[in-house]
Amino acid sequence: MKTIYWHVTEDDEQQIEAIREAAQLLIEGHTVAFPTETVYGLGADATNEHAVRKIFQAKGRPQDNPLIAHVATKKQLVDIVDNYKPYVDKLIDVFSPGPITYILPSNDTCAINVTAGLDTVGVRIPDHPVALQLLQEANVPVAAPSANLSGKPSPTTAKHVWDDLNGKIAGIVDGGLTGVGVESTVVDCTQDIPVILRPGGISQEELEQVVGPVNVDPALKDKQSKPKAPGMKYKHYTPEVPLLLIDGPIEKLNEIVAQAQQEGHRVAVLIKNDDIDKIQVDQYYPLGTSLQDIAKHLYDALRSFKREDTDIIICQTVPETGIGQAIMNRLKKAAHKIISP
Ligand code: AMP
Ligand code: MG
Repeated sequence: MKTIYWHVTEDDEQQIEAIREAAQLLIEGHTVAFPTETVYGLGADATNEHAVRKIFQAKGRPQDNPLIAHVATKKQLVDIVDNYKPYVDKLIDVFSPGPITYILPSNDTCAINVTAGLDTVGVRIPDHPVALQLLQEANVPVAAPSANLSGKPSPTTAKHVWDDLNGKIAGIVDGGLTGVGVESTVVDCTQDIPVILRPGGISQEELEQVVGPVNVDPALKDKQSKPKAPGMKYKHYTPEVPLLLIDGPIEKLNEIVAQAQQEGHRVAVLIKNDDIDKIQVDQYYPLGTSLQDIAKHLYDALRSFKREDTDIIICQTVPETGIGQAIMNRLKKAAHKIISP
């Protein structure tokens, strides 16, 4: 299959035409990758089971892992769900459009392979001008998991999508680097108290400021429990080069780096900008300074080292506050090994 590639920039005519073409492909039952504020999504008409099947095929995604339906407005969200708890309106008013997915009772508008046969559906309104225009133009709910091969780090640039899916999907809308960099927070809103099933772009603290106490799926802390989001049980975000995660100070990281170098390994370090002067390596990826910067650059960093030049990536843990919860969730899943104090 030839994959069409559109480059769009903020305001020009070309963007409008490209989005029209991309929306047309979606309506006709094809798959199109597009930017959102979290990561690139691989979209298909969520009401069309046959179209949705193409997402699973292109990604190699396990069938029992449900997809998130993306919509442009609250009205479109309400159209695909059944009655929900009153606190959901508060969450939508404050956080949508934004990096949050609501698990709500499904009214079966979405195809059975979107929900993986569950009686709930995950819905989100992305906060990205290209995504919103595309969804408005298509005027159907669009099922869109991350636009990567299953198991690999999620894509935050159109090039990442191209590397994984060129030839397997109908089109890619290139809207530049995504903003947040990690996926949406998935919140189960079917209980009296909301439950975070996957940490993401909106933190537990932010949610609690709006609706009071919020629970966290025990499976996020304890590996014995079965996760409520089916996708959380799969191996995820695995870079090509093994990742070693160090829970300790920069001195500990330096010790491990030196040891690996002595053993003849070609080492790359993912490092905060403030710490660049403190490490001695040929290859490193500057992650920025804040937790927001780290979230934004994490997947590109994990994808940027190749087996030809690098044997091991080494990275320090981050504090699990705010978006740090999502970063650590991804780092732990991506890591080949974690060294604790
Ligand atoms: P992604 O592959 O990044 O789109 O991830 C979507 C996440 O949301 C996966 O972990 C899914 O298992 C989860 N998810 C989607 N729909 C539901 C649902 N109805 N109930 C529980 N988890 C869901
Ligand atoms: Mg994904």
